[in-house]
Amino acid sequence: MNALQNSADVFVIGGGPAGLAAAIAARQQGFRVVVADGAAPPIDKACGEALMPDAIAALERLGVKVPASDTCRLNGVRFLSSSLSAEADFPSGLFGLSIRRTALHRSLAERAESLGVDLLWKQVVTGIAKNRVCFVDREVPAKWIIGADGANSRVRRWANLDRLAHSRLRYAFRRHYRVEPWTDRLEVYWGKHSQAYATASGSDQVCVAVASRNPQRRLEESLREFPELYERLRGAEAVSAERGAISANRRLKRVHRGNIALIGDASGTVDAITGEGIDLSFCQAIELAKCLRRSDLAHYPAAHRRLSVRPLFMARLMLLQAGRPAFQRRTLRVLRRRPEIFRRLLAFHVGKLSPVDLALNGLNLGWGLLTA
Ligand SMILES: Cc1cc2nc3c(=O)[nH]c(=O)nc-3n(C[C@H](O)[C@H](O)[C@H](O)COP(=O)(O)OP(=O)(O)OC[C@H]3O[C@@H](n4cnc5c(N)ncnc54)[C@H](O)[C@@H]3O)c2cc1C
Repeated sequence: MNALQNSADVFVIGGGPAGLAAAIAARQQGFRVVVADGAAPPIDKACGEALMPDAIAALERLGVKVPASDTCRLNGVRFLSSSLSAEADFPSGLFGLSIRRTALHRSLAERAESLGVDLLWKQVVTGIAKNRVCFVDREVPAKWIIGADGANSRVRRWANLDRLAHSRLRYAFRRHYRVEPWTDRLEVYWGKHSQAYATASGSDQVCVAVASRNPQRRLEESLREFPELYERLRGAEAVSAERGAISANRRLKRVHRGNIALIGDASGTVDAITGEGIDLSFCQAIELAKCLRRSDLAHYPAAHRRLSVRPLFMARLMLLQAGRPAFQRRTLRVLRRRPEIFRRLLAFHVGKLSPVDLALNGLNLGWGLLTA
């Protein structure tokens, strides 16, 4: 055990995107930081692998450089349903990126390591006590403890922060196919029972994720709901294993107790359809580090709530479409005929339009739906 592992100012439990971002942001504030994760890097996970423009800005603030060769540029979003489609660009000057989950993890871990964060891989945390993090064979004293251990967080349970304000579960699967990418957008396919998301993943692969309310409904079955996507993937070699995960809009009553704070999926989740989970955790990491610098975690819950409002709202708005094929087609017809409405919705989604402007836009959309 080296000197740092004997104690830490900030101990981060979980070294996924949220934990590594929290560690980097805390280290940037001058803290001695340790991260422990039960898995070995680079860590993979079921994910649509899209980074929205906010996430790119947050990566810059964290000083994380992702090699251009690991990414594909996303210029906007395309919705597709029953041979109809509508699309919008991100606001001027903004773009997103798609990146393999493992490549993102590698870049985050390299940045954390270069800053001097102590990274303990294959080390499962078995409990926490006041100012101590416990492993099977030892305990590490820590002033602050950050739970970044994902959607099934045990830190959340140990800290008695498990009470939910709201939760709605869906079941998601993702896989990569060797096929030449056909789009520079995040594509969302709307079906009767599920949605599919497709993004380019390098020069010769596409990442596909599907989500539905039915836990039995696997990727292959869902894909048949989207003939256009199914046709594009027909005969393409699957180059990754099918991975599953829960996708949920889940809000906690509390994300902080004493010297413990939750971040990322451990602190609540937004449905995968938003493509915002990673972005949100990066922004939470930056806010959390500011609170740590002030030695005052009491301000963190308000910052956390403020950051979650927009993605949770957008997830609910988008999921109004789920399971309603007639409504989907109607909405797509309006968005196609009135592209400025889609552009403004997307601008709000990425934080570039005020709620007031969104409300006015909502009236336009509502009127369009009534008259479609
Ligand atoms: C199908 C799907 C598609 C998605 N698509 C997108 C997308 O396109 N864009 C986007 O931004 N977001 C997307 N998301 C959301 C995104 O994947 C999550 O928000 C993100 O993974 C959260 O990261 P995290 O670090 O909080 O959790 P995780 O990535 O789950 O990491 C938690 C880590 O904690 C470790 N851990 C757990 N318990 C312990 C323990 N006791 N001791 C030590 N280590 C422990 C685990 O090994 C793991 O590495 C998607 C989600 C799903 C389900």
